[in-house]
Amino acid sequence: MNPEPDVVVVGAGPAGLAAAAVLGRHGARVLVVDEQQRPGGQIYRQPPTGFTRPDRHARAGQALLAEAAAAPNVGWLPDSTAWGVFGTRAGLDDYAGPAPGPGRIRVGVHTPAGGRMLEPAALLLTAGAYDLPVPFPGWTLPGVLTAGGVQTFVKAQGLLPGRRVVLAGGHPLLLVVAAQLVEAGATVVEVAFSQHLRTLVPGPRDLLAALGSAGKLAEGAAALATLHRARVPIRFGTAVSSAAGADAVTSVTLSRVDPAGAPVAGGERALACDVLALGYGFVPSTELARQAGCAVRWRPAEGGWVVEHDEWLRTSVPGVSAAGELTGVAGAEQAEVEGRLAAYGILRELGRLDAARARTLARPVRRLLARRRRFAAAVLSRFAPAAALLDALLTDDTVVCRCEEVRAGDISRALCDHPHLGTANAVKLLTRAGMGLCQGRSCAPAVCRLVAQTGRTAQQVGTFTAQAPVKPVPLAVLAADRAV
Ligand SMILES: Cc1cc2nc3c(=O)[nH]c(=O)nc-3n(C[C@H](O)[C@H](O)[C@H](O)COP(=O)(O)OP(=O)(O)OC[C@H]3O[C@@H](n4cnc5c(N)ncnc54)[C@H](O)[C@@H]3O)c2cc1C
Repeated sequence: MNPEPDVVVVGAGPAGLAAAAVLGRHGARVLVVDEQQRPGGQIYRQPPTGFTRPDRHARAGQALLAEAAAAPNVGWLPDSTAWGVFGTRAGLDDYAGPAPGPGRIRVGVHTPAGGRMLEPAALLLTAGAYDLPVPFPGWTLPGVLTAGGVQTFVKAQGLLPGRRVVLAGGHPLLLVVAAQLVEAGATVVEVAFSQHLRTLVPGPRDLLAALGSAGKLAEGAAALATLHRARVPIRFGTAVSSAAGADAVTSVTLSRVDPAGAPVAGGERALACDVLALGYGFVPSTELARQAGCAVRWRPAEGGWVVEHDEWLRTSVPGVSAAGELTGVAGAEQAEVEGRLAAYGILRELGRLDAARARTLARPVRRLLARRRRFAAAVLSRFAPAAALLDALLTDDTVVCRCEEVRAGDISRALCDHPHLGTANAVKLLTRAGMGLCQGRSCAPAVCRLVAQTGRTAQQVGTFTAQAPVKPVPLAVLAADRAV
């Protein structure tokens, strides 16, 4: 018997958990790989073993976590990073040793016990998303964090990153995180949305789309009630244009913005704080999919570059499927439903379900998915960050690539000196933006916007080519894998 798993799932969030449960119940041997110590992903993030602090989201995810834990044939590799996919791009895979067996894919994983090369027949990528990084003057000061990062402090460790917090951006997550901070004992000085309130008020079609997503609406309403009780001001048409402080942030400047998102001169005011939490939305974690050779397409309202897929969530690379946020940011409920659908697709490919049975099982899941997509589209279109704002926040002196310390002005000058530069990759080669430890996760959106300002479309600009290792791994892991 082949000791390798039939399916490797990268990511134990809602999409990965749901997929693993379905796959395992239908007899496929599954191995779920996740960087975190415990399954749950971003939304159902669990505190470390031994912590007993109650968490509303953790409770919300209990049914799914229990379903995945109870499923037979599912193994777990926690604390482990998938850093490369091999055998899917002819001629480019010599780096990781011998080619995989026929019908198999190689997945490089860094585990606490060292490197492992897994050889599943199918790979499901459910790596989720991360906060959209938005550079502006002062964003590299300690104390300036993303809203998701602040939430991780509170959810995972029960810690507050500071006492006086300003939250700013344009995503509903700001309300949820602000309420969590209030409940954890922080002073929330203000929540600032860049959008004007009238653009956020739902129309009749949006309300229709919300039917069936009562949980999300209730979550928003509960957060608003908490903020109201704590007398937290929520302002609209307002954005943080700079952060200041000697060694860490001590104050931020808020500016009024017009309905198109451009800051209005003269409307500035300062607020003292020791944490600024920014929530402008999410970027799908497509790096592993792109490194594997999967086709992506540009969907700005869904977070930027998303993985292309068919009706079974199979990508353009045979044997590789994708579900959850990397097919387009749309929330945990849609991610879970997509995970189930992708699992039926994989079971069909593996011959564990015949086509007719897979179709029958997938039918109710597809109906649910259509409903979730309607809700997500209604929300996303209203909360997408305005390009005019993101562009206006970037001054020449603003560091864009934190790893290589490349400023917006360096990139603008390179584009001016070399008018033929028209892609994110070309700018990377010339300026080193995107070459550091984070491999462009922090700077790619801003670099791409700067290149697009030369009159090019997002498709022409593209994004940085994803290379293995997509995340930092010790050299010893790579050396060991070469010797395989
Ligand atoms: C920081 C953050 C906070 C959020 N908070 C909320 C919230 O409060 N309320 C809400 O409704 N929605 C929230 N969201 C959105 C919500 O979490 C997502 O909609 C949902 O979790 C998506 O599920 P998923 O399965 O696609 O991905 P995720 O839940 O993001 O799970 C992906 C998993 O993949 C793992 N992973 C990624 N890359 C690798 C790799 N290379 N190797 C191994 N493992 C990997 C990650 O550790 C993670 O556990 C948040 C999102 C983020 C990014």
